[in-house]
Amino acid sequence: MIKKIITLAAFWLASVSAFSQEKGYQIWIKDDQNSVDQKTKDKLVTAFYNIYPWFAAADGYRTKRNADLKFSKNETADIKAKAGEIIVNEDWIKGKSQKKIEKQLRRAFTNNWLSFSTQKKKGYELTFISKDPFLNPQLKQNLIDTYFEIYPTLVKNFNKQSTHNVLFVVDTAYKAVAEASGNRILFSAGYLKAHPTDIDVVTHETMHIVQGYGYSAGPVWLTEGIADYVRYQYGVDNVGSKWSLPAFNEKQNYQNSYRITARFFAWLEQNVKPGKVAALDKQLRAHEYTAQSWISLTGKSIDQLWEAYAKNPDQIELKYSNKAAKG
Ligand SMILES: [Zn+2]
Repeated sequence: MIKKIITLAAFWLASVSAFSQEKGYQIWIKDDQNSVDQKTKDKLVTAFYNIYPWFAAADGYRTKRNADLKFSKNETADIKAKAGEIIVNEDWIKGKSQKKIEKQLRRAFTNNWLSFSTQKKKGYELTFISKDPFLNPQLKQNLIDTYFEIYPTLVKNFNKQSTHNVLFVVDTAYKAVAEASGNRILFSAGYLKAHPTDIDVVTHETMHIVQGYGYSAGPVWLTEGIADYVRYQYGVDNVGSKWSLPAFNEKQNYQNSYRITARFFAWLEQNVKPGKVAALDKQLRAHEYTAQSWISLTGKSIDQLWEAYAKNPDQIELKYSNKAAKG
């Protein structure tokens, strides 16, 4: 009796729906009518694993990792797909090659994006995805131009092993400013709309790609301080976005991160020895950074250096990039 139930259950699973999982992504194929043969379903599963992880990574914020697939005669002429849902025309799919299925599935997913383009320049590539129907075209162009202007310089000066292939995603569901993970930078559509001149967010975020420290390489204030120091040093239009390093005050500390730490780094470069930031960046990437690094690089501890800075914080000449002045 038990055996019979198991057999029935197995039969039911095989005929009605099939479940498959790989690398954290899952697909459920539902086919109550058994309208599509198993060989075709296998092709669809393969296509799913070849396309969906790419789509999900590029799609941005909180994209579903599971998808349901069903067959239909009238909902689409070929394939219709969005995050978590795929509909396949059961007549169209018959006899289609693996290649043809994948091409159509990829196209169906990219239809979710309001714009999707890839550009190449001097060995560097940028894929730009916008999910915002109101993204200002000029702003979009400025972000792209900043990437091609700044990123190759950062790679050359800090980490030649960095990827040459970067993805920008402008997402309406993402509410912070921007973040980098792997080779992808996620931008908040709302932030860009409210701060259209802040194009050097690209400089800060692409520096995070170049940094590529991985986990537990060093404190977050150091990573963010370096990224903002780089924005100060290499940014294309800090004047245009009214971005500057805040003046020193007694309440500050090097662990305040971002611009406060960045100003301290600018002071170190001018008053102690140039090249320290690049040396720290290298050590962090090699997972060789310790509190001792400051002493071996400058002869002083970080606290001693901060103390020296606090005594004489205005002994610094700050220069900001200004696109308008360049003409
Ligand atoms: Zn950052």
